[in-house]
Amino acid sequence: MSAPITQDVLTLPRKLPEGGLTNIVGLTRDQLQAALIAAGTPARQARMRVGQVWQWVYHWGVRDFAQMTNLAKDYRALLARHFEIALPEVVTRQVSADGTRKYLLRIAGGHEVETVYIPEEGRGTLCVSSQVGCTLTCSFCHTGTQKLVRNLTPGEIVGQLMVARDDLGEWPQPGAPKDETRLVSNLVLMGMGEPLYNFEGVRDAMKVVMDGEGLSLSRRRITLSTSGVVPEIARTAEEIGCLLAVSFHATTDDVRDRLVPINRRWNIKTLLDALRDYPRLSNSERITFEYVMLDGVNDSDADARRLVQLIRGIPAKINLIPFNEWPGAPYQRSSRERIEAFADIIYKAGYASPIRTPRGEDIMAACGQLKSATERGRKSKAEIAADSRLQTH
Ligand code: SAH
Ligand code: SF4
Repeated sequence: MSAPITQDVLTLPRKLPEGGLTNIVGLTRDQLQAALIAAGTPARQARMRVGQVWQWVYHWGVRDFAQMTNLAKDYRALLARHFEIALPEVVTRQVSADGTRKYLLRIAGGHEVETVYIPEEGRGTLCVSSQVGCTLTCSFCHTGTQKLVRNLTPGEIVGQLMVARDDLGEWPQPGAPKDETRLVSNLVLMGMGEPLYNFEGVRDAMKVVMDGEGLSLSRRRITLSTSGVVPEIARTAEEIGCLLAVSFHATTDDVRDRLVPINRRWNIKTLLDALRDYPRLSNSERITFEYVMLDGVNDSDADARRLVQLIRGIPAKINLIPFNEWPGAPYQRSSRERIEAFADIIYKAGYASPIRTPRGEDIMAACGQLKSATERGRKSKAEIAADSRLQTH
């Protein structure tokens, strides 16, 4: 695409964690309460203080304790001595011709992750990363060529949403009429990494994001996408309660083994059994089956027919994702006609089969294109083979 790209290298003041200060962002209520008590808050006041600080940080987007005007001056000073409100640093922000925004964020240790904001008619979706790199090696995914560097902390996951709200100017203004339209109305855990290999980090972050007194995104506006980490699937419903998407991508174990190597550990049947048991499954809370359309690999009519047979009985919708190319990718995108013929078979079998419009391709922000340039560590062939043989954790 030859669309115009704007790229501002932001020169915001660096906000690196300072020695000894505890970052409030990403602490659960219980953790914040314990930290406030440890810093000298009387135990009987701690719950109330959590509520007050929480509102300032997550509802109003305040970063400076001095602005927390319903707290006594001494108490604000105590907070400032022990805590900070720190977000990942924005290194670059790119805006696509279609309005998609991609943020490159720097986190502790100098690592970088990407977050993508996708504006749509009447809603806006933030695609959040859960790890730097990924341990898995799906052969069509750019992130999969990058080594896992580390899991993101809850603060770094919540911080991605707060950075986007900063950039979009979305914090409420005190005294202004309540505005119900939200620019970031939905969140998808579909950025870099496998969220279910960072289960606790993602769960705690989502608790903060869903909390009604703070960022307040409903669990039904959050979708977690997994490549199929079967043992963590039931926990996702029980401990997070968000919607689930599964990177399905193939209708035989043979092909899925090659595309999504985790299939060698938990194959299609094992995965589908886990999905059938997914708590809360209903027609209003369907599982999304993601299916990347790869020319000549998984896109035949026979594949479409097998797909609907396999998922029979599971309340589902099938999201067809035209393959997004990246440098060196070993696949090509199926033709539009092929994707439409595939979608038609699924639709006639009674399933919604939307074709995902690639967004932000001109800035490499589309699904599967994310990869942080600074993480030069590329998996060797041997590592890729080993990764796909034994995926324990
Ligand atoms: N690790 C998780 C979530 C991140 S990937 C997972 O695999 O589900 C988000 C979605 O983008 C997944 O469905 C993934 O399979 C898909 N994807 C990865 N690379 C892609 C590419 N090059 N083109 C289109 N979709 C891709
Ligand atoms: Fe990891 Fe998901 Fe990419 Fe597979 S598709 S390599 S699980 S980020």
